[in-house]
Amino acid sequence: MTGTWHARAAALNVDGRAVVDGERVAAAGGATSADVNPATGAVHAEVAALDAVDIDRAVAAARTAFADGRWSGLSAEDRKERMLVLADLMQQHADELALLDSLDMGKPVREAREVDVPGAIATFRWYAEAADKLVDELPSTPPGSTALVTREALGVVAAITPWNYPLEIAAWKLAPALALGNSVVHKPASVSPLSALRVADLALEAGIPAGVLNVVPGPGGRAGEAIGMHRDIDALTFTGSTSVAKTLLEYSGRSNMKRLSLEAGGKSANIVFADCEDLRAAAENAARGAFYNQGEVCSANCRLLVERAIHDEFVALVAQASLAYAPGDPLDESSGTGALVSSAHADEVWAAIEGARAAGDVAAGGIRPAIGGSDAFIAPTVVTGLPQGHPVLSTEVFGPLLTVEAFETEEEAVTKANATAYGLAASVWTSSLARAHRVSRRLVAGTVSVNTVDALGLTTPFGGFKQSGFGRDLSLHAFDAYSALKTTWIQHG
Ligand code: NAP
Repeated sequence: MTGTWHARAAALNVDGRAVVDGERVAAAGGATSADVNPATGAVHAEVAALDAVDIDRAVAAARTAFADGRWSGLSAEDRKERMLVLADLMQQHADELALLDSLDMGKPVREAREVDVPGAIATFRWYAEAADKLVDELPSTPPGSTALVTREALGVVAAITPWNYPLEIAAWKLAPALALGNSVVHKPASVSPLSALRVADLALEAGIPAGVLNVVPGPGGRAGEAIGMHRDIDALTFTGSTSVAKTLLEYSGRSNMKRLSLEAGGKSANIVFADCEDLRAAAENAARGAFYNQGEVCSANCRLLVERAIHDEFVALVAQASLAYAPGDPLDESSGTGALVSSAHADEVWAAIEGARAAGDVAAGGIRPAIGGSDAFIAPTVVTGLPQGHPVLSTEVFGPLLTVEAFETEEEAVTKANATAYGLAASVWTSSLARAHRVSRRLVAGTVSVNTVDALGLTTPFGGFKQSGFGRDLSLHAFDAYSALKTTWIQHG
């Protein structure tokens, strides 16, 4: 693609229809929903709004594809080759995929192009390469018998994904599920379905057969519920809010007990001890951990806990560092952050900021600038001095609000860090190796980052404790969500 991002956006040819059984299709009932660019308030696409009848069709296509072996029956090496072609095609369409995510949910196109799209491509490559390196087990058994323990694909896997990293989180789920030979039915978030739909087109072009990857946009309450309640879906992998995750548990119990892997909300703490070696670096990372992606990150380090001796100095450094995340036009490469996902979500985040402002002190931000005629932009905001028990200290806001609390002792820091219903991530800044180990062990979180924030990589599992969910994306452990172990015991003696 050539020209400025605005010119490229204007030249986009967007198709909002679903991909079912290898075809672009409208919803059976003809329903569509308007896809709004939150940075401008303009409708930039009409997207098919699927219903239970469409989900039935997609699941049937996925089941047939699994049963006839057109993908599940290929060798792992063949699946690898086709997934690598898909990754190459995504690379060729990287600008387009980045634009679609930016236009859909407001993130800076620069970040989508430099982080999300390369991350999604790397994820497809990584799981493609892993597919033919998995080995099964031959455990010890009594003489006269041999047992094989094999990892079996489950069949039809559904994925329901959120809007904050539309392409990347989808890749975390689709790549391992497909690499194992499953067929997939993917419901992206209603506000950000376009990159997933394009990936399904590219998958067909890459030789991943029709029916293997179906993308079914539609409202959570209808398409999502139909998936959750479906009796012919073997496993459902989800990323989104804790409340929807709990509903999916009910759906599973009320339908066919489909396996669930649930990545849900978070309220992660970032603990800074006075012995931290480089306060400026810690402050810059604290701002990144709280404000990157408009603060719309499940593992955002949105609770800063600072040892009292350095509290005031550190707050000043963080306030300064937050300026790098000033919001602006997402299609302008110099913008620090973009628009929140919608005006409605910005209203909710703003209400939380107003509530915090009324009870504490604003050290940075607290502004809702009008940019490009949209009110979905909020400046990164730092609030100190909130009383213990203030709701904003334990409720997920999912926007650019960072609260700061002081602590006196290591014990108090750990207690405060763990005092939420969530357990997704936490960060610790200290120059003491002993303290780093001691505190990390006591933090109830799926990922603890020491002297960095929000550490994440393809090789390490990502997921939560407590009401942040269960199951793990990324790393070889992700294969567990899309396969089951089978024991074949052969008595020959
Ligand atoms: P959400 O409201 O829970 O939506 C997530 C997905 O679930 C969307 O595709 C949504 O469809 C669908 N959904 C909604 N109601 C449903 C229902 N009754 N049955 C089945 N599916 C349903 O979350 P979100 O607002 O998109 O994303 C923000 C949340 O995701 C935050 O809580 C954040 O912490 C969490 N998150 C967690 C992680 C992680 O890895 N732990 C990563 C990113 C985000 P619609 O779009 O049509 O509503």
